[in-house]
Amino acid sequence: MESDKKTYYRKIPSVDRLLNHPAVSDLTSKFPRNVIIKAINQVLDDLRSAIEADRGPIDPSRLDVNPLSERVVAKVKSLDRPSLCQVINATGVIVHTNLGRSLLAERVTKRLASLSSSYCNLEYDLGRGKRGSRYVHVEALLTDLTSAEAAMVVNNNAAAVLVALETLAKGREVIVSRGQLVEIGGSFRIPDVMRKSGARMVEVGTTNKTHLYDYEEKVGPETALLLKVHRSNFEIVGFTEEVEIPDLVSLGRRHGIPVMEDLGSGCLVDLSQYGIPKEPTAREALMQGIDIVTFSGDKLLGGPQAGIILGSKHLVEEIRKNQLSRALRIDKLTLLALEETLRIYRDEREALREIPTLRMISQGYRELRKKARRLVRMIGTEESRNLSMHLSQGFSRIGGGALPSQELPTCVLNLSPKEMSARDMEERLRSHDPPVIVRVERDTVLLDVRTIQDNELKVVAGAIGKLHAVK
Ligand SMILES: *Cc1c(COP(=O)(O)O)cnc(C)c1O
Repeated sequence: MESDKKTYYRKIPSVDRLLNHPAVSDLTSKFPRNVIIKAINQVLDDLRSAIEADRGPIDPSRLDVNPLSERVVAKVKSLDRPSLCQVINATGVIVHTNLGRSLLAERVTKRLASLSSSYCNLEYDLGRGKRGSRYVHVEALLTDLTSAEAAMVVNNNAAAVLVALETLAKGREVIVSRGQLVEIGGSFRIPDVMRKSGARMVEVGTTNKTHLYDYEEKVGPETALLLKVHRSNFEIVGFTEEVEIPDLVSLGRRHGIPVMEDLGSGCLVDLSQYGIPKEPTAREALMQGIDIVTFSGDKLLGGPQAGIILGSKHLVEEIRKNQLSRALRIDKLTLLALEETLRIYRDEREALREIPTLRMISQGYRELRKKARRLVRMIGTEESRNLSMHLSQGFSRIGGGALPSQELPTCVLNLSPKEMSARDMEERLRSHDPPVIVRVERDTVLLDVRTIQDNELKVVAGAIGKLHAVK
């Protein structure tokens, strides 16, 4: 057996032999040579491992250059494919952190396309012909939209919280309720961020109840900040109590201590008109007297990844001057996308029409059912042959750690394949180009049309149609 294997190893085609095979040499005009060599080496490595693992007699056709070169061609194509690719989100989770959170509005992508290949006045004051600040491009928009005195932006909300704490409370104490010590996916944890910022966390109250006197007892000469954190991805139900913002603000005022709120999602429009529980908007938090508010650019706002910091002029100015802000600074393309997104918000109706996140949230059941029926028609005759399908009512989620228990009624396409398991079908849809990401429940594949974009319906129907063709 062993000597048998050795003979085979010697007969494995050389790299050059595969490189000169017509199917492979055809690739040299289209793909970089090092990618082709890497693919050949991987195919040969796989072959060696397969021979190594073989227990019984070895099949000599394995060494045939024709199937091997076919494998090389497939491998070259897969190695050359960019890692980031479009996926179709059929999960119904709107702000899906794993799938890139927000889709930018069309107007935003147009602006990105036109400006990203030219120079721009990023840090140049065109009026004075001098160096300017990158933050001016969004500051006026943000202050107009939220009535904040001042605004600035950093890389994401985690960075916003970090730099705000470092600026306002390094080496001193920050008081926070035990009911708000949240961990957000991707390991953003309030106690850890606090430690990184150099601030000392002073926890007050209990998990379910925190009273004003809990804060009052801990306020002292070392207190730098009172912090409120939006619970975002969890809820406390039953016997609960939280201190209202006006009470927290007046406590802060009495002692000359600023109050900061990490809003998490940070909505700019009131979504309660869609039957969604009232989320505090940034404007409302500021109107109630919060001194510093931070939130994400790519959660409910529906813009690019960014961390927005709003508040009183002198505090925002201090944060801006912090060296950390330089390290966490927002990039040119992001700033451009954020500016254009915020410009849309100047007219709230326009925002609801044009910002994909808001549009998806506001879609009603009847509209979604129509969309689902359209998808069913596109799938057509596939049904009778290989799968049974029906529509049912289900629930979409907002995601992104916002409103975790909020269920938006939606129309779901249920697919039960006849010749494979739902898990297999999920995997095939996931390996489609572009991948279609679905949910599986009780051996049924579920597609929520809410998060499938109109121009993707055809592709989804095609992917379902192809399921049985590639066996
Ligand atoms: C999401 C979230 C963060 C982190 O925001 P990123 O923009 O993802 O960095 C911080 N705090 C709260 C309360 C959040 O919900």
